[in-house]
Amino acid sequence: MSEVHAQPAPANSLLLAQEPPAFQVVNRHGRSPFVIVVDHASARIPRVLHNLGLTATELARHIAWDIGALAVATQLSHVLDAPLIAQNYSRLVIDCNRDPRVGTSIPVMSEWTAIPGNDNLSAADREQRRVSLFEPYHAAIRSILDEREVQKQPTLILAQHSMTPIFKGVARTMSAAVLYNRNPAFAQKLAANLRAQTGLEVAENQPYFMSDETDFTVPEHADRRGLAYAEIELRQDLISDLTGQTLWAHHLVAVLRKTALEFVQSEPDFK
Ligand SMILES: [Zn+2]
Repeated sequence: MSEVHAQPAPANSLLLAQEPPAFQVVNRHGRSPFVIVVDHASARIPRVLHNLGLTATELARHIAWDIGALAVATQLSHVLDAPLIAQNYSRLVIDCNRDPRVGTSIPVMSEWTAIPGNDNLSAADREQRRVSLFEPYHAAIRSILDEREVQKQPTLILAQHSMTPIFKGVARTMSAAVLYNRNPAFAQKLAANLRAQTGLEVAENQPYFMSDETDFTVPEHADRRGLAYAEIELRQDLISDLTGQTLWAHHLVAVLRKTALEFVQSEPDFK
């Protein structure tokens, strides 16, 4: 069951009344310890931005969104009974996994594609994107985590992403990757279990590593609260259709349950 929390848009919102809100929440009161967040769930561009000057072909590519990530995350949310919060607009408008003060928060170039609609933005344009899309999404995550803290519900954050199989002409051999920075115990166990479950190459902190410059969601929502987390990247060619999405959701459900159990036993302070 999906619930969309429409909130009044800020006065200077980028979004028209008939457009979807900045984010969607599924299974808000789910009982699972996992809270799933999908920063790059959508390729949608607010209408007033005229597709940022890009063709439909460019907007369908990985530069605009994490292909397959929301589909897998939605299956996880249903099977695990986990809350899911997903951004409804493209990372090309504003990247919800970057600090808005970082230059690449609103990219002028992604892989080899220039983004004309992001050229020469004023401070007011940037602020409008932040308050219209970035802020409501993170406020929604914050409010769900606050609520769980009050109710003393143990919480693990799962940041679901997907990665292109070929970046700047270089093929990626790993099927999946687990990224972490501070407090890596849960993510490292998860990577080992996912490797054992699938028999496939599961990288750690490759092809990206997690840092405060390249990541916002985990530092903001997990680290500041001392919550365990994992950021998962799945290769997009493996989850581009329902068969692949279902297979990977099945792998992840098994591995997340097993890892959570092991984690609870090894971490008496788990909260
Ligand atoms: Zn991503």
